[in-house]
Amino acid sequence: MENLNLDNYRGVIFDLDGVIYNIINAVKKAVEDVIKKYNLNIDINTVLEEIAHLIEEIQHYPVPKIILKSYDLLKLDFLKEISYMKKVRIAIFLFNQFNEYRKDSGLFEGIEEIIKQLYKKNINLAILTNNQRTYAEEVLEKYNLNKYFKTLIGFNEVSKVKPNPEGLVKIMKTWNLDPDEVIFIGDMTTDIQAGKAAEVTMVCVASGLAKSSDLKEYKPNYLVNNTEELKQLFNL
Ligand SMILES: [Mg+2]
Repeated sequence: MENLNLDNYRGVIFDLDGVIYNIINAVKKAVEDVIKKYNLNIDINTVLEEIAHLIEEIQHYPVPKIILKSYDLLKLDFLKEISYMKKVRIAIFLFNQFNEYRKDSGLFEGIEEIIKQLYKKNINLAILTNNQRTYAEEVLEKYNLNKYFKTLIGFNEVSKVKPNPEGLVKIMKTWNLDPDEVIFIGDMTTDIQAGKAAEVTMVCVASGLAKSSDLKEYKPNYLVNNTEELKQLFNL
């Protein structure tokens, strides 16, 4: 396995959901509930990535905006045979179920150790999430990780969320670091797009929602399959 020399870097930016916080079961259970309730004839594995992207996209909207933005729902492949109003109902139900299950989520095993080791090396640490900053604060506080992160950026702190690189650029400016001194760790194709646009070193963790083969197509600098491989990549 490839190695990345951390001595060349002074900042590491983490995505939260899917990298630190394990929401995979929450998404899966929400999708299972939708399939059951609406009697959909679909295979959960084929729609998981699409749903994960939808959740990533709409998680910071209040419900009225979800309805306004529901044009996006019409584009969802797995709902193509279903009427518009039903699609909106399905999306809102899905989102509510996800929010309930998310409360039972935990950290990826081993991620805490990685965060602590990076912190010990005096590397600046940040969270960049398309969710609310307060959500990130709650998760970090719950697991006593808040002291390690110097900077938290949620959707309120940027005018454009990922895949736009604005959040990454903002963090680098705060730290006064150049892109070649910074690593971004994400789990979705939108993270890779943001990382590449910001010209930082992009590390992608294929932790379960997006397929490894799909992530590979977006050409991250490094692609690992789980937290254990991430630890190996960093030689920690
Ligand atoms: Mg994520």
